[in-house]
Amino acid sequence: MARKKKKKTFKAIVILVVLALIAAGGYIGWKKYTARIEYRLGKAGYNKEETEAIKEMFSEEQQEILANLRAVPEIFGIARDERYQEDRFVDYLSGIAEGKDAETLLTDFDPLVIALRDTEGYKEENLQLYMQAIRDPDSGYISSASDFRLYYAEIVYRINRQLEYSKLEGYDPAIYETYETYTAKHQDMALQEVVTHVNTALKYKDEPYFIDAYLDRYETYRTANPDAALYDVILAVNAGIDKPFYTDAQHADMSKGYLVLVNKYYYVNDNDKPETVELGYYGVGEMEVTAAEHFRHMVDAAAADGIYLRSVNAYRTEAIQNLFYTGYVSEAGRAAADTYSARPGHSEHQVGLAVDINTASISKHFENTAQYAWLVEHCAEYGFILRYLPGKQYITGYVYEPWHYRYVGVEYAKDIMDSGLTFEEWYAFYVANPDLQ
Ligand SMILES: [Zn+2]
Repeated sequence: MARKKKKKTFKAIVILVVLALIAAGGYIGWKKYTARIEYRLGKAGYNKEETEAIKEMFSEEQQEILANLRAVPEIFGIARDERYQEDRFVDYLSGIAEGKDAETLLTDFDPLVIALRDTEGYKEENLQLYMQAIRDPDSGYISSASDFRLYYAEIVYRINRQLEYSKLEGYDPAIYETYETYTAKHQDMALQEVVTHVNTALKYKDEPYFIDAYLDRYETYRTANPDAALYDVILAVNAGIDKPFYTDAQHADMSKGYLVLVNKYYYVNDNDKPETVELGYYGVGEMEVTAAEHFRHMVDAAAADGIYLRSVNAYRTEAIQNLFYTGYVSEAGRAAADTYSARPGHSEHQVGLAVDINTASISKHFENTAQYAWLVEHCAEYGFILRYLPGKQYITGYVYEPWHYRYVGVEYAKDIMDSGLTFEEWYAFYVANPDLQ
């Protein structure tokens, strides 16, 4: 009985030991099994194929780390994103440990984002727009910058600017460049002002002789003269006739030399008298020395062509001009006199650069003579221009004077004659143009 009992006890111990061994083996096996990356991936919900693919993204060392960490299934999602940076493995893990989400980590370690955030002017709220512009070849951001840093800086700047502009009234994204060009030249101007100004200026942009600085005056003139063509509006305002003749008259700019403009807005006085010489054989009066020399050459050349020219009037002092003018006024009245005679100080005869040839009378119809035809063809060769053109009285303030020639120098006379402009119009654009200063 006792032996039987002993035998039974022994058997039970053996069974227990065997069971314990099996359990221990199972436990070790289980531990070994769960300490594999495949297990972690399976737990994270990836199938066998996906598991293989993801596994390949990690080095053996990394796989070992991952197998031993329970709480990082986010890393698998991160690794599958095209923005995943292999060399940032440890950073992603610490990020996850700190509770950051996958999207934040992918963004933070994206080299493009890092570079952008390092760029001057960067604004976090515009990040997606910067990225789009860089990644999308059709976004129109073509850069000449050789260095990617410059390229990014350009993108950051442009997107920031465009967003700023887009809040403004009337902004047209298609002409962003035009606004920018204008802004660069007028840095003191508010952006809204720039947009409004540029939009208005576009109406004029294809017109010759357009001067941007006069835009407001063109607009005012156009409002007062709604039927006027843009071309005429521009020339009129350039010449200053949006102000009545003799308004705010200023001293002529004598520094312009032979191009000095003397008219109903610009006066001279006797102190501006140049050195003059008598024309003598070549006609009545005196002229400025160089102008006189050219006048003589012109008269000689005409004579060689059988054309007789002589001066009937040239330099005048202010007193003489006053005599002329007051005479005309008492004869015909001020309004009429103003159309063919300058008020004292306002005659270019007073700077010795003007000459009346053969006549000074409308009724002689000098425009129908061979002398006139010769002058129109050749005067520029000697530095002279026909000063008071037909149909331009509203600009010059004077009726057509086919006899009155003005010395401007050989360098510019042909340009002026060929332009078909009055000296006022030509001077406004090519000499006094504030856009060119
Ligand atoms: Zn004259």
